[in-house]
Amino acid sequence: MQKTIPPQLVQALLKQKYHMVGLHSGVKRCKWLHEALVHNRHCYKQKFYGIKSHRCLQMTPALFYCTQQCVFCWRAQNGDLQIGWGELQLPDWGPVENIVEGSLHAQQRILTGYKGNEQTDWRKFREALTPKHVAISLTGEPTLYEPLGELIHAFHKRAFTTFLVTNGTRPAKLATLNEEPTQLYVSVCAPNEEVYKRVCRPQINDAWTKLNETLSLLPSFTCPTVIRMTLVRGLNMENVDEYAKLVEKAAPTYVETKAYMHVGFSNLRLGFERMPSHAEILAFASRLAGETGYKVLDECTDSRVVLLSKRERAIRFDGS
Ligand code: SF4
Ligand code: SF4
Repeated sequence: MQKTIPPQLVQALLKQKYHMVGLHSGVKRCKWLHEALVHNRHCYKQKFYGIKSHRCLQMTPALFYCTQQCVFCWRAQNGDLQIGWGELQLPDWGPVENIVEGSLHAQQRILTGYKGNEQTDWRKFREALTPKHVAISLTGEPTLYEPLGELIHAFHKRAFTTFLVTNGTRPAKLATLNEEPTQLYVSVCAPNEEVYKRVCRPQINDAWTKLNETLSLLPSFTCPTVIRMTLVRGLNMENVDEYAKLVEKAAPTYVETKAYMHVGFSNLRLGFERMPSHAEILAFASRLAGETGYKVLDECTDSRVVLLSKRERAIRFDGS
């Protein structure tokens, strides 16, 4: 499989409004940044954790690379659009500072577009020019980026909070991170190995074992931890008791159960009817709560997500 990234792939991403940063990183405007700036709405992480949507930068250091090919993923995968490349043929990684500075510039370019928008909330716009939060998640598996701890550190040095989302297949990398993120997410989108292979389609050996190693590692983190379940109707919403065992193993601060959204390149793999309703997500979350002793703490119907925790209240990062 070829190591160089085909220009057609880059073109397809640019068409979807990705901003390339160097050769392997990218920034994309989150829908909720837009909603916050022009419609006074915000994402569920603002509701749950106080992360301001209009001051959030969504980026990835591993735009083309991942250890899984989840059927529900919004990223372009090898084979989509008849474009082929090696998703595990890792590049020469670029320096951290270039990626941070490049991401900040990309965010400024994104914001420039709002200057001519009559609906822009100017107070929020001025604040947005100084982002405070980075979601290291957009697409790809960030633990493949070798200096990930340094990247997190570089954002923290600039007074950012960081949410890192990993698929959990690189426990050795997580175990040796030299700086923890502000909050760590691990995606758990299958209750057992059989469903995992069908839904998350791992591209490396022993991925299920590695994910389980990550879950065992989670209690050693000092930052808040989250198990995120992206749920697809008819694919991975059964066997709640087995999900519960995985939650017990990881003892995360939170569990977020979230509906698959029919967006991006996932449209090539799944139909619209695969999106569960909020009521289905809430029913799943309630069953999981019953099995684990976690409580339903909050929910957001717009994003079809339910927050579970053993805490009485989520930890907030806005001082409230
Ligand atoms: S926290 Fe996530 S959902 Fe919210 S604005 Fe940032 S990238 Fe978007
Ligand atoms: S782990 Fe994340 S980036 Fe990789 S295929 Fe799955 S959803 Fe997409």
